[in-house]
Amino acid sequence: NLTRHYRLRQRGNLFARTKTLKAVDGLTFDVAPGEMLGIVGESGSGKSTTARLLLGHIPPTSGEVVFGGEKVGAVPDLAWRRMRRRMQMIYQDPLGALDPRITIGEQIGEPLIVHFPDLTRDARRAKVRAVMGNVGLSSHHGDRFPHELSGGQRQRVIIARALVMEPELLVCDEPVSALDVSVQAQVLNVFQDIRARNSFTGVFISHDLKVVRQIADRVAVMYLGRIVEIGRPGEVFHQPLHPYSRALVSAVPRKGRSARERIILAGDPPNPVNVPPGCPFHTRCPQVKPVCRIERPELMSEGGRAVACHLVNNPSTAGVAVANGEA
Ligand code: SF4
Ligand code: MG
Repeated sequence: NLTRHYRLRQRGNLFARTKTLKAVDGLTFDVAPGEMLGIVGESGSGKSTTARLLLGHIPPTSGEVVFGGEKVGAVPDLAWRRMRRRMQMIYQDPLGALDPRITIGEQIGEPLIVHFPDLTRDARRAKVRAVMGNVGLSSHHGDRFPHELSGGQRQRVIIARALVMEPELLVCDEPVSALDVSVQAQVLNVFQDIRARNSFTGVFISHDLKVVRQIADRVAVMYLGRIVEIGRPGEVFHQPLHPYSRALVSAVPRKGRSARERIILAGDPPNPVNVPPGCPFHTRCPQVKPVCRIERPELMSEGGRAVACHLVNNPSTAGVAVANGEA
């Protein structure tokens, strides 16, 4: 039941009421060891805030993150340092995340100096070389500077720098979004490769359902700081249950689908400062019912699939006639 709210105060207006931005507003999910959970949603749905909460970079307003039985951020300093090195993050912007003045090899090895100061120089070099091979960089890249590499190669460097720590949890926030589509495919292949070779648990965040579908074992769809649906990628892609997931899926171009089948949602997502009452999606939902404006649907799971929608979870109270088991 994780929340992260920000209080906003209008500058220069002493009498303005403070407003609350609900970036993450009651998230509950788990990730099994070795699993890759994909999180998909539009910008402003709270994906990046979720990533930062998972790693303890920011504290939650309420709720908690538990990693391997321990509450993230709530352990004493030394234990927290140890816990932190078991969790790594990969960001979207490969150029901003790298220091232009330092060679690639040194940058990949840097976290080892900080977290494993007892490692010898040779041992560190060996680890860096191995991890570079792991992500498809050759050893001569080690002496290069970031600007001498392509965008795809730079993203491999970022991945290598996270992997060199041998993390148990890898949180990837839009790791391929800044890349061209052809390069995206290469970097996604790197992810598939490293998953086959290393054991780690992953959370992979993207606004692009196609990308998440390729990489994830399970997909969570976020809308306005909440999860509206969780399922296997094939299920969510071929049989989305939540009206919002349906609209998302319909926007992905696919062979044999006509433009008419695309569900166009009215308007933009509401501002997270003014989350609508009831179902947060009711202002745009093509199937909205009176109950949706009043009551917030809970995320209800059945057989590994979870949906937060009155129409799916409780068709009779939603005032829908049920025929042949279908709403
Ligand atoms: Fe639409 Fe109502 Fe379901 Fe929300 S609860 S997604 S408004 S049908
Ligand atoms: Mg983001």
